Amino acid sequence: MCAPVGWGIVPTNHELRLYNSLGRRMEDFTPAAAVAGLYSCGPTVYAYPHLGNMRAYVFADTLRRVLRWKAIPVRHVVNITDVGHAVADTETGEDKMEVAAARERRSVMDIAAYYTDVFLVDTAALNILPAAEYPRASTYVEPMIEFAKKLDKDGFTYQLPSGLYFDTAKDPGYGELALMSTEGQLEAARLEHVEGRRRKTDFALWRAEEPGQRRVLRWDSPWGWGAPGWHLECSVMSMALLGQHFDLHTGGVDHRELHHVNEIAQSQAFLGDGRPWVRYWLHGEFLQLGAHKMAKSAGGAPRLADLTEAGYHPMAYRLFLLGGHYRSQLDFTTAAIDAAQATLRRLVARVQPLRPLPPVETLADARQLTEGNPAAQRLLDTIDAAAAADLGTPKILAALQDALREASLTPEGQRAVVAAADALLGLGLASLDPADLEHRRALTDLSAAEKQAIEELVADRTQARKERDWDRADQIRAELDELGVDLTDTPEGPVWQLR
Ligand SMILES: [Zn+2]
Repeated sequence: MCAPVGWGIVPTNHELRLYNSLGRRMEDFTPAAAVAGLYSCGPTVYAYPHLGNMRAYVFADTLRRVLRWKAIPVRHVVNITDVGHAVADTETGEDKMEVAAARERRSVMDIAAYYTDVFLVDTAALNILPAAEYPRASTYVEPMIEFAKKLDKDGFTYQLPSGLYFDTAKDPGYGELALMSTEGQLEAARLEHVEGRRRKTDFALWRAEEPGQRRVLRWDSPWGWGAPGWHLECSVMSMALLGQHFDLHTGGVDHRELHHVNEIAQSQAFLGDGRPWVRYWLHGEFLQLGAHKMAKSAGGAPRLADLTEAGYHPMAYRLFLLGGHYRSQLDFTTAAIDAAQATLRRLVARVQPLRPLPPVETLADARQLTEGNPAAQRLLDTIDAAAAADLGTPKILAALQDALREASLTPEGQRAVVAAADALLGLGLASLDPADLEHRRALTDLSAAEKQAIEELVADRTQARKERDWDRADQIRAELDELGVDLTDTPEGPVWQLR
């Protein structure tokens, strides 16, 4: 509840509430120890991360920023999967890393290093706060084997020629996170057939090499040469770096039904202390491209570099994401990213005369700056309420816009509220250069020769279409696209503009 804010009244400190996927309900958040432990399932570094992948990390970053705002210290770990993740998230079959290495004719380690760098470059461009640790799965295989050995010794496993399997029948709470019923278990699991597997929900802790198929990355284990199962790494690395129990675990909503279910099963079996392994599970929704969710396997999904090459600023993409709540699906369209860039341009134009902005990270910082300024405190209270209510970024954005329009706010009040909103949004409003946000080239920027070359290509394409040479027409359209030219066919003939 919001207390009236003004002279002599201590403003409300809104209790942080988060939507816990475990139980599907809003819950008050209080960390178990002085420093909250946060683990986010990281990328499998076998291909370029696309825009949909990056949404999960902007969401985790928003959580980081809200915890900081509430003066809750946090230790954040994001893993790098460079081994063990089979194509199509299945239990058997080829490893994504090895398929990528063969495709690109490079070593698995080269592939991992290259795509890890790309991931870190993209996170930096999106102003995502760096994690404390980025552990690589391939460097934790020994502790993974020890972990699996304990499960084996305690009777949670069985062995098949294809590897060591976790026996989900031994876990009465299996599937709680996914709201999977015992009867529904068969439907909930992927339909891959694994020879000898007792239940479809049972999953590999260790994937043994198939006879005659030597893996590139291979380790010796009590269950033969092979590699760890994909789910194992997150349990082992998170416990190694955050302690056996920690506060928060995040990931994309697709992880809620399988990967995280299996992480919980094996971790709670391993710990055997009757306590929930991790208390809060938060899941970010998908980004939709047209009618399709952008999963990792969606070939050709746009990446951040595609946006920047087309003249969009990475912060326009961040703003677009924050304009939706992390638990809502978002549709990525050209119109939406155009609108985000335009909004960002307007924001920066309004913020620029207020610079320099004061340094603000926490609610307490912002409170200090707005003392004796009721109008600013009222907006601050709105921002705090929005942040505390399950990371309500759309409302924080709205409060930011209000602050810049509010006639009754002094420049000091505006500075404080803008800095407070941006501590949570991370758009870099203190320093963004308006010149970087101008992306549409004007026709007048073209030289006469450039313009003539474009006109000629458009005319050639019209001719090709008349001759029904569709391949040629498509090829010319692609060339125009490369040049940043948008072409539209109208009844009066083709019209073009620069992007
Ligand atoms: Zn994970």
